[in-house]
Amino acid sequence: MRMKYGIRFLLGLFFLLSLPIGLSAQQKIKVMIATGQDGNHWWKGSSDAVKQILENSGLFAVDISVTPGADEDINSYNPVFDGYKLVVFLYGGKTWSEKTQKNFEKYMSDGGGMVVIHSSIVPMADWPAYNQMTGLGAWDGRDERAGPYVYWKNDRFVYDYSTGSAGHHALQRPFTVTHRAAGHPILRGLPPVWDHFKDELYSKLRGPAKNMTILATTYDASELGGSGRDEPLMWTVDYEKGRSFTTVMGHVGNDPELRYAMECTGFQVTLLRGCEWAATGKVTQSVPKDFPSAGVITLRKDFKAPFNAN
Ligand code: ZN
Repeated sequence: MRMKYGIRFLLGLFFLLSLPIGLSAQQKIKVMIATGQDGNHWWKGSSDAVKQILENSGLFAVDISVTPGADEDINSYNPVFDGYKLVVFLYGGKTWSEKTQKNFEKYMSDGGGMVVIHSSIVPMADWPAYNQMTGLGAWDGRDERAGPYVYWKNDRFVYDYSTGSAGHHALQRPFTVTHRAAGHPILRGLPPVWDHFKDELYSKLRGPAKNMTILATTYDASELGGSGRDEPLMWTVDYEKGRSFTTVMGHVGNDPELRYAMECTGFQVTLLRGCEWAATGKVTQSVPKDFPSAGVITLRKDFKAPFNAN
């Protein structure tokens, strides 16, 4: 009798110890999403999706900071960045005021984290530090003065200083992602080649490209209207003590049915890992069982991992 009770007690204890331990509110990584204007993209839908993706992981606590609208005075936007480990940009609007720029530059210089999603590589071409932090940009008047085109060719990255405008995309489609820095904490352990769900692929990016590590590329086939180059898809930039991670994936259209690119498991998992890395310099997340692979697309339609993913 005594023995039986003891075994049950021990089994119960093992069960409790094997449960995932949720982080308390104090332990979660505090994140600000900066959004409010985004050209043809639905910033409310994208910021809501990213908030869900981050919070459903149990690692992050997210506040959404909304700028004035496109027809309002951007100079009144001056959020307090201190206290956040990470600022996520879902922003494609007017350039922030000089005061706000300086505040954000200090936040990053002091060791802040920054994540840049899809159309957030487009705005604020007239803010030099933003271009340095993002590494590569597109449109918004960028040309050879912004820096070289960067792409992958003959097993290495090419810095192409030829003249021309930055930014191009063909029709949306699924595409294959190839990792080019498999040992980086954001990618470590993930399948090195995987298929991404339908998205809007930006190409012909150019920028300062300093202190940058390109993590992944995809081939933008010319027969499909693309650049004919292996284009950067994800990268990191070191900016003084700060860390920046950019993913070009994650186009969002103008209604809830048009967030399919963000429903891709590969987008969500690399975003989660990029967010943790930018905030802390480390990635503690395991490789989930539902991660896509070569020829295999998987989706997380409700922006969270299925119960048996880890
Ligand atoms: Zn887009």
